[in-house]
Amino acid sequence: AYTGPTADEILAKRKNYLSPSILHFYKTPLNLVDGKMQYLFDENGRRYLDGFGGIATVSCGHCHPEVVEAIVNQTKRLQHSTVLYLNHVIADFAEALASKLPGNLKVVFFTNSGTEANELAMLIAKLYTGNHDIISVRNSYHGNAAGTMGATAQSIWKFNVIQSGIHHAVNPDPYRGIFGSDGEKYAKDVQEIIDFGTSGSVAAFISEAIQGVGGIVEMAPGYLPAVYESIRKAGGLCIADEVQAGFGRTGNHFWGFEDQGVVPDIVTMAKGIGNGIPLGAVVTTPEIAEALTRRSYFNTFGGNPVCTAAGLAVLRVIEKAKLQENAFVVGSYLKERLTALQDKYELIGDVRGRGFMLGVELVTDRQLKKPAKAEILHVMDQMKEMGVLIGKGGFYGNVFRITPPLCFTKEDADFLVSAMDLSMSKM
Ligand code: PMP
Repeated sequence: AYTGPTADEILAKRKNYLSPSILHFYKTPLNLVDGKMQYLFDENGRRYLDGFGGIATVSCGHCHPEVVEAIVNQTKRLQHSTVLYLNHVIADFAEALASKLPGNLKVVFFTNSGTEANELAMLIAKLYTGNHDIISVRNSYHGNAAGTMGATAQSIWKFNVIQSGIHHAVNPDPYRGIFGSDGEKYAKDVQEIIDFGTSGSVAAFISEAIQGVGGIVEMAPGYLPAVYESIRKAGGLCIADEVQAGFGRTGNHFWGFEDQGVVPDIVTMAKGIGNGIPLGAVVTTPEIAEALTRRSYFNTFGGNPVCTAAGLAVLRVIEKAKLQENAFVVGSYLKERLTALQDKYELIGDVRGRGFMLGVELVTDRQLKKPAKAEILHVMDQMKEMGVLIGKGGFYGNVFRITPPLCFTKEDADFLVSAMDLSMSKM
């Protein structure tokens, strides 16, 4: 049993010694002490179904035994920087990761986070093309360092930093966007940015396949192929940010971008790659990777033995336990059940996403699409009381984000929907 400090004691310490900007979702913040697959446990041993572990990087499940074993064994053997010395784990993982990517995407750079991966991807694009301008999509999230904060396009995540050479394109959002589901119309905005906002040459376009922080927004069909064509004509590279959508989460494909039938020039990843271990990666072609040999690029812990041992185990588990297939089957079922709930409650304006990357947008008026900001907090709190955790996001903070560990079952999906149903019925 847990004998550590109480939630109140931890909260008091956080108030004194941690960032004052830390967010808490719940009226009474949860004190989580144990995790097992799709379940989390608080200090009283109370169990919660985790419908939001995906955001915190959990792909295989909390403390998945095979991943934990790989981490423990490698920690006992050696943990070091692999930049200067040889070690087989980093090479084996790079090879395994490259085998999961299409085309000639086979050179891997390891980092410690998604932010670092995107910073490096944009740097490589600038070096390779000799151009400076980057185009990203409004409502996106790409990180919180200088370059990635510029690429991120939501005021709530941006401080007053210099955004050199960044342009934000109209979001191809089928629910709130100005052109509905017509991807090609939105893509014209990217062409216009190139024509009117740059010299005609750009370094890169970067986008998520499904916006995660932005509230599970899928790109309108046909958007990426048209944008990629414009970008390549302007001499730029296409970067796919797979930090949230990658590693089988979207179910129908291993990578989110595959749904739009495109092959990027650079793919960035983090979160699910390590099942909770700090790890990120940039994968590109040998030709583009050459750009980084002009100077020394050094990252002390990027690709260290312990994290890459975890990554290798994650890939094995995803394959062995057929987790992508599970995300497809159970995710589709869960989406069907949530869509049925939309018929029952006016409050649900939209249900969207694929696999285990699902969004439920709450509105107080379906016509005006007025964000139901207070209602979402209430439902979320009620669901927590019933033992179900889900996330929230979107620019207005009114979208449920349902991104469970990939081992989530049909019974778990039923329980989650029942809890949401009951909370909404009591409003
Ligand atoms: N890209 C996307 C799509 C993300 O969702 C995030 C994190 N929310 C990042 C990049 C940044 O990753 P990290 O927090 O590991 O730096």
